[in-house]
Formats: sequence, structure tokens, C-alpha cells
Amino acid sequence: MTQTSPQQAANQTNATMNFAFTRLMTDGPRRATSLNELLAAKDVSRETWLFACPHDDDIVVGAGLWLMAAIDAGADVHLLVATDGRMGYCTHEQRDSIVSIRREECLKSYELLGLPREKVHMLGFPDCALSGFLGRRPAQSGEPEVAGFTGLQNAFVAKLRELCPHRLLMPSPADYHPDHQIVHNEMQISLFHAAGAIWPELGEPCDVPEVYELAVYCDFPSAPNLEVWANSEQFDSKLAAIEAYASQLQIEMLVEQIRNSGPYEYLREVNFRFYRPDLYRPLFRTS
Ligand SMILES: [Zn+2]
Repeated sequence: MTQTSPQQAANQTNATMNFAFTRLMTDGPRRATSLNELLAAKDVSRETWLFACPHDDDIVVGAGLWLMAAIDAGADVHLLVATDGRMGYCTHEQRDSIVSIRREECLKSYELLGLPREKVHMLGFPDCALSGFLGRRPAQSGEPEVAGFTGLQNAFVAKLRELCPHRLLMPSPADYHPDHQIVHNEMQISLFHAAGAIWPELGEPCDVPEVYELAVYCDFPSAPNLEVWANSEQFDSKLAAIEAYASQLQIEMLVEQIRNSGPYEYLREVNFRFYRPDLYRPLFRTS
């Protein structure tokens, strides 16, 4: 097992590596030079990856390098943003215009990471008020709507069935922000719904993707097991993408914090599976 860091490995091979990866095994870290190797994937370039989050800046902060690495590997990458950012104003003047300001900042930010605008799916649910949109119900005038219904489960199921992602990455449920907890919970039940036959007006059933958690502001609920390292050019793109949120007056402080943390990000693989009694039968067999 090598003890070199991804940075040292890049220097030693004199390669122009954009990214390097590490998986934490029970016997220690194991390096991988590609996402295919890291994830034991057949071909990431034939996969669709969906990054889902409550707020437009969550993914760039918590998984901007992962998003760039997926694009670099040729995956069809999409971003789903649940809220409209209406509570993200920092001045009185911004209060009435913050939704459109944030929308433009968001599109510019992800363009800097290499994600084109048409791959950004903004669902428009009210920032900081997601508890009013749990589940699914007939939509009232002005509410985000698909097929006459509103609610996070309605929107998530429709998007999952439309995109059929192979991998889904979303903020962990350990974040203090209720929007983060709600998006995580609603997405998990939506994976179940999307794979089944209910709500046929939202599309054909799709397979359950591999699920990964990322951390944005609060720590992981338990240690992550995947690491990405990026070279300085890629890391600078992430920092520039965060700086694109110029309406956020604290942004420079955040950029400095992330710069000081270095070009690393982490994911936690989630063993997402549905319950089957036969999974547990071997444990209870007496002989
Ligand atoms: Zn957030």
C-alpha cells in the first residue's frame, strides 16, 4: 500500500492529473487514479450523476471538486436545487431581488465548474419553508408544480424518473439547517417511490441509484470513505465558483476557509437498500 499523497503521486508520475482519488478500506487508504477505479464502475462516461441540494451553493462548497471530476470523467452531470434562495439576502436592498440575483449567481458559479446552464434544475420551493412542502398534494396557484401536484416528493420523483441517475449525491442529514434535513429525507423516500409504479403521470419507474452523502457546513454523521484531490487549476475553479456568489457578504471569509483546507473533498457511500427479511435470516439460523 502506498503512503504517498495524491499530490506526491501526481509529482512522481509527472502527469498532468486533474484529480486523484482515495478509498478508505478496513486495512487503510487505497489510491485510485480514476473514478472508474475508485467506484469499481464499468464506465463512468456512460453514467448520469445527479447532485441534489436544498440551496444553490451547497454543492459547489461541499462537492465542487466531485462535480468537476465527474464531468472530467465524461459523466452526464445534473444539478437539482430545491429552493429559490429567497431568504439568502444580506442587505435590505436585496430583499425583493435576491431570488433573481441568486439564480444568475448560481448559473455562473456552476458554469465555472464546467456545468452548462441546461443541466441546472431549479425547483423553486421557498427557501427556509420546506416544511410546508413535504410529500405531495394538489398544487395551488403559484406553487411549484409538476402534473398538477406540488411537494418535494412529487418534484423529486418526476426528476428522478426523467434523468434516471446512476449515482445520487446529496448533503448529509446531519446538517443543522432544516432544509438540508428535509431534502435528504424527502429524497430518500422519493427513491423508493420513483422505483415503483405509483404516480404514473410522473414518468416510468427508474432504478435506484448509488447514493452518497456530502458535508457542507456540519460534519458527517459518520466518517466518509471516499476522497478526491484536485490540482491547483481545478481547485482555483472551485474557489472562483464560490466567489461567484457575490451577493453573500461573507463569501470572502468562506473562500479563505476553503482555500486553507486544501484541495480535498469527501463522500460517504450510503448502503441504501430496501428491507427484505431474507437479509437477516442467516443471522438467526441456529445450525
Ligand atoms: Zn444549504
